[in-house]
Amino acid sequence: MGQKGIIFDIKKYAVHDGPGIRTTIFFKGCPMDCWWCHNPESHKIEPETITRKIVTSSSTKACHERKEVIGREVTTEEVMKEIEKDMVFYEESDGGVTFSGGEPLSQPEFLIDLLQKCKKRGIHTTLDTSGCASKKELLNIVGLVDLFLYDLKIVDDEKHLHYTGESNKQILGNLKTLAEKGEKIIIRIPIIPTVNDDQESIDQFGKLLSTIDILRVELLPFHKIGEEKYPQLNKVNRMKDIQKPTKENIEVIKESLEKFGLKVKVEE
Ligand code: SF4
Repeated sequence: MGQKGIIFDIKKYAVHDGPGIRTTIFFKGCPMDCWWCHNPESHKIEPETITRKIVTSSSTKACHERKEVIGREVTTEEVMKEIEKDMVFYEESDGGVTFSGGEPLSQPEFLIDLLQKCKKRGIHTTLDTSGCASKKELLNIVGLVDLFLYDLKIVDDEKHLHYTGESNKQILGNLKTLAEKGEKIIIRIPIIPTVNDDQESIDQFGKLLSTIDILRVELLPFHKIGEEKYPQLNKVNRMKDIQKPTKENIEVIKESLEKFGLKVKVEE
C-alpha cells in the first residue's frame, strides 16, 4: 500500500517547477503563514471545505454558492500511478516530478516514500521547499532529491517572524547544511513590494547567498493570482492593497544581486 498522505492538487505538464516537463504534486500542510501566500488552502494539513461563488448569469450577475473540499487522502502508489502516466514527456524533455505545497516536509514519511519510489524508477525529483523543518527531517531526504527549489523570503529574522509567523534561523541553518552536503540548490525569492524589495533587504540576500554554493537565484515577482481564495477560506488578505512590482524594479533588484556574483533569473 505504501504511505498515506494528504494532497490538494496534481498539476500535469508543469514547466515552471523545475527543468523540462513535470508533474507537480501539491502537499497539504505548511508551518508558515506568509502574508502573500497564493496557496492559502494549503496551510492546514487536514482537508477543508471552501465556498465558491459561481456566476450563473453575466447580465444579472446572479450566482450560486458551491461547497468544495480541498485536500484528499491518497497512497503513494496512487500518486506514482499518476506520475508514471507521463514518463514519455519526462524522458523527452529531461523533466520529472516536483513536490510542492504547502510544505512537502510537513508530511515527511509520505515524501520519503515518494522520493524513494521515484529514484527506483529513475524519475528526476525536485523539491520545492521553504526549508521550515527540523534538521533531522532534512537530513533524511539528502541523496533522494535531484534538485532543491529553496524558497527564501527575508534575511532579517525579526522581519521574517513578523511576515511569515516563523523565525528563519532553522531555515538558514538547513540551507547551509544542504549546500555543505553538495546538494543542487536553486534559491527562489518572492519579491514582495514594501516587505523585501528595499535595497537593505536585497543587499542582505546578496551578502548571504554569495557565501553559499548554489546554482542560481530565481526572482518571483509578487502577483495577485489566488486573491479570491482568501474570502472563500474566511481568511484576511493582508496584501490586498499591495501592487505587483514593476518590471523596472525587478530589473534593479536583479542587477543588485548580480553585483554579488550571483546568477539571477526572473521567473514570471
Ligand atoms: S511557505 Fe509557501 S505555502 Fe507556506 S505559507 Fe509561505 S508561501 Fe504559503
